[in-house]
Amino acid sequence: MAFRKRFTPRKKFCRFCADKNLPLDYKRPDILRDFITDRGKIIPRRITGTCAKHQRSLTTEIKRARQMALLFYTTVHSTDVKKKSV
Ligand SMILES: [Zn+2]
Repeated sequence: MAFRKRFTPRKKFCRFCADKNLPLDYKRPDILRDFITDRGKIIPRRITGTCAKHQRSLTTEIKRARQMALLFYTTVHSTDVKKKSV
């Protein structure tokens, strides 16, 4: 049970299959953040090793978290929205 704080692309495995207690939830942006880049983009599963099933729900939860403003959109996107709404 030695999970590193930051994801290391050394050994690929689905973190959600490995740890059944790891919540896959939009209310947990601290966990979702491990699966997005610094710019807020979703990291493809060939890099994170997340299985197809969990990657799909992960994408949904990330999108939901974005709508709830728990996660940031990409920098370009958010400035874009601001300009348009003004
Ligand atoms: Zn999985």
